[in-house]
Amino acid sequence: MTGIEELLLSRIRDVADYPEPGVMFKDITPLLADPAAFTALTDALAEISVRSGATKIVGLEARGFILGAPVAVRAGLGFIPVRKAGKLPGATLGQTYDLEYGSAEIEVHAEDLSADDRVMVVDDVLATGGTAEASLQLIRRAGARVAGVAVLMELGFLGGRARLEPSLDGAPLEAL
Ligand code: AMP
Repeated sequence: MTGIEELLLSRIRDVADYPEPGVMFKDITPLLADPAAFTALTDALAEISVRSGATKIVGLEARGFILGAPVAVRAGLGFIPVRKAGKLPGATLGQTYDLEYGSAEIEVHAEDLSADDRVMVVDDVLATGGTAEASLQLIRRAGARVAGVAVLMELGFLGGRARLEPSLDGAPLEAL
């Protein structure tokens, strides 16, 4: 394990049975509270984004906002929030996706993305991949291209990488 991987891992708190029994919640608040770790994470995600040729960063509500905004500033790119349905005031594009029980919907301001954009999606945890997959569908429907997905951590046993593969269409999925 590299030094940065050790640093980041040491600042993630495992919380058993949150928010429901059987889930091991990956709490990143200790990492956010440590300026050295938060800066290292921001720099690493910004480096991935610049290397990919991204023109915009999309952050997924809510922790993707906390990580994606400083990444966008550091990379010199615009930041676009993808929000849960009903939160954005302008004309939106929406995408529904299945949850274990029921479904959810995310939205983006349609005017924020164009055919000239290559978009890097940033979030804290890739679990089943459902949220990231829906965001890639939104980006494509907005006419933009996908530069990749960059997350702090991937819960490999949930199969998110395999689920995302078709929507990535060759773009990288990077998990620190
Ligand atoms: P999924 O759509 O299943 O990939 O879930 C991804 C979203 O749920 C991310 O935005 C994560 O912030 C959150 N999430 C899912 N599982 C966990 C977990 N075990 N710990 C922390 N966050 C999680």
